[in-house]
Amino acid sequence: MTRKAFVIGHPINHSRSPVIHGEWLVQNAIAGSYEAIDVAPADLPAFFERLRRGEFAGGNVTIPHKEAVFSLCDAIDPLAKVIGAVNTLVVTDGAVHGSNTDYLGFLGNLDAGAPGWDQSGRPVIVLGAGGAARAVLVALRSRGMAVHLLNRTGATAERLAEQIDGAIAPGVLEDFNSLAPQAGLVVNTTSVGMHGTRFAGLDLALLPGDALVTDIVYVPLVTPLLADARALGLNTVDGLGMLLHQAVPGFEAWFGVRPEVTPSLRAAIEATLEHAP
Ligand code: NAP
Repeated sequence: MTRKAFVIGHPINHSRSPVIHGEWLVQNAIAGSYEAIDVAPADLPAFFERLRRGEFAGGNVTIPHKEAVFSLCDAIDPLAKVIGAVNTLVVTDGAVHGSNTDYLGFLGNLDAGAPGWDQSGRPVIVLGAGGAARAVLVALRSRGMAVHLLNRTGATAERLAEQIDGAIAPGVLEDFNSLAPQAGLVVNTTSVGMHGTRFAGLDLALLPGDALVTDIVYVPLVTPLLADARALGLNTVDGLGMLLHQAVPGFEAWFGVRPEVTPSLRAAIEATLEHAP
């Protein structure tokens, strides 16, 4: 039987997931399908009935459904609850299981792009305390990393630090320059960098020479933060790999093959970024 998967959202035509999974279906010679389906919020319960009837092996969930599906799933991975969003559904024996693979995408990207990144023994500076920061914090804590969580609005960082287990010290962006000399990794999870915007007042030259800088913004691929870090000779990893690696667990669950994030897959997605809004 042909196994079918999907991404649901509203609207859905912006999603790059069909390109990623389509490439993997071809690379692995799997006679399956992965389709983008526009599901309006009011139609979500009916779509879940289709899932329970076994029409699909599972699929991805994107905006605006990532929180709404919590109440419709039969089981939810505990880490998806901490992250506050579901992006992957797997259907087993008529039951829909929801999880969040963004934190695995973040880890997979750094493991591939900067092997040993988690062995420095030095704290991580996370910039931003929005939705995406949650997955990054869960990822960093799963590797036992100590984190300084710096946000434009300090109170938001304080609230988020309380919600995630472990060593997370909240602060504001102005704390960066005093923390930088001890840091091993800097992660931007804010929307700064999109459309070429940049932070004011972060002095990357204060970081140790072997520090790593990564950005989860991937449009543009080289954000001003990454460009500045590279100009100083610092190691960098861009955010596109997080998008690619977060797709791996879903594909494996639906189609039974663990796919690889290859240079040709990356090139196929990079080509779509040229037309990004
Ligand atoms: P969000 O929930 O809206 O959070 C936005 C964050 O950015 C907040 O911490 C906000 O600070 C901060 N911010 C916004 N404008 C700022 C400015 N001018 N100066 C300083 N800080 C500013 O957004 P999100 O869902 O977390 O997404 C953030 C970015 O991550 C987006 O660009 C998204 O595309 C990207 N992302 C990438 C991946 C991937 O796979 N690579 C996955 C998910 C998200 P305040 O609290 O002070 O407002």
